[in-house]
Amino acid sequence: MAEIQLRNISKRWGAFVGVDNFDLTIADKEFLVLLGPSGCGKTTTMRMIAGLEDATEGDILVDGQRVNDLEPKDRDVAMVFQSYALYPNLNVYENIRFPLRVRGIDPSTHDEKVRRASAMVELDEFLHRKPAELSGGQRQRVALARAIVREPNVFLMDEPLSNLDAKLRVSTRAQIKNLSHELAVTTVYVTHDQIEAMTLADRVVVMKQGVVQQVGSPTEIYDKPANDFVASFIGSPAMNLMSGVMSGGTFSTEYTEIQNLSAPDGPVTLGFRAEDAQVVDSGGQINAPIYTMELLGDATMVTVRIGGALVSVKADKSYRAEIEDMVSIHVPSEQCHLFDAQTGARLG
Ligand code: ATP
Repeated sequence: MAEIQLRNISKRWGAFVGVDNFDLTIADKEFLVLLGPSGCGKTTTMRMIAGLEDATEGDILVDGQRVNDLEPKDRDVAMVFQSYALYPNLNVYENIRFPLRVRGIDPSTHDEKVRRASAMVELDEFLHRKPAELSGGQRQRVALARAIVREPNVFLMDEPLSNLDAKLRVSTRAQIKNLSHELAVTTVYVTHDQIEAMTLADRVVVMKQGVVQQVGSPTEIYDKPANDFVASFIGSPAMNLMSGVMSGGTFSTEYTEIQNLSAPDGPVTLGFRAEDAQVVDSGGQINAPIYTMELLGDATMVTVRIGGALVSVKADKSYRAEIEDMVSIHVPSEQCHLFDAQTGARLG
């Protein structure tokens, strides 16, 4: 059992604020993903949970006990890093066994624990190899097994897939999800990859410049982004965003007008996702020449240029047109997201 409470934790170095007032309870067995661009404070937050970094302010509690003053080794957490940090002169078996030796676990239990952990990540055949004789994916699995073998209450994972190629990333991602479920361990996972976040998380925390922007299930943050930053960070392609003015329920820019919206009059940012709009023969609210077309396999991404901005729409995979052809795009008003022009906060 491990519920982690982060009570208004901040990290400052001099005047620089790395993490600002992070306040969240991570439920027992939850898979929580910290997501955001480089430098937003994800790793620092995780290092504070691990005890590798002191919080300048705030309390960290595990199952109700304040752990701020506990050494990393005395916290019941196991970390998996982007760099696997394996011992090059130890074979796989000894690398996995290492935490058991360091922690003075009864040696008569080591063999069974190492074999169980290595079986979980399908490394049974490689136990006698040295790290240099393994592929990147296999090394990452040794790092995972080394975390598993400790039977911790908390897994902390910092971009564990980022050194793997695309295919291996997908299969290892599934394996991590599976393991965390099977082992029923509270997991905090750091990534800047929104697809990883969406596929792994029970809840996602989106961060920007040390400040939490939104906490929610993948569906919540995708369907109801709290502000224009989250809207533009989640989803591929990013949500289309246009600056304009609301007046009497109609959004307008120099190039387009979208009616039947509900937001107060004044400047706003309007957003919609590529899959929520349609290319139509005529009569859509956006009429512009095609800038690029990309075949996605199951669909065609059509991007037009309107004013200085690019707007993408997902069309049928059989859609055919030429660059520079004029197209018409229908944007259903009920699929539009509206954000305050100044603060970026979601309206309604
Ligand atoms: P990335 O995805 O690039 O790893 P991140 O979101 O994990 O980024 P952090 O490593 O948490 O970001 O860093 C947050 C901010 O704090 C960054 O701007 C970083 O430069 C700064 N920072 C980190 N460690 C220190 C330090 N020891 N002294 C001063 N500033 C630091």
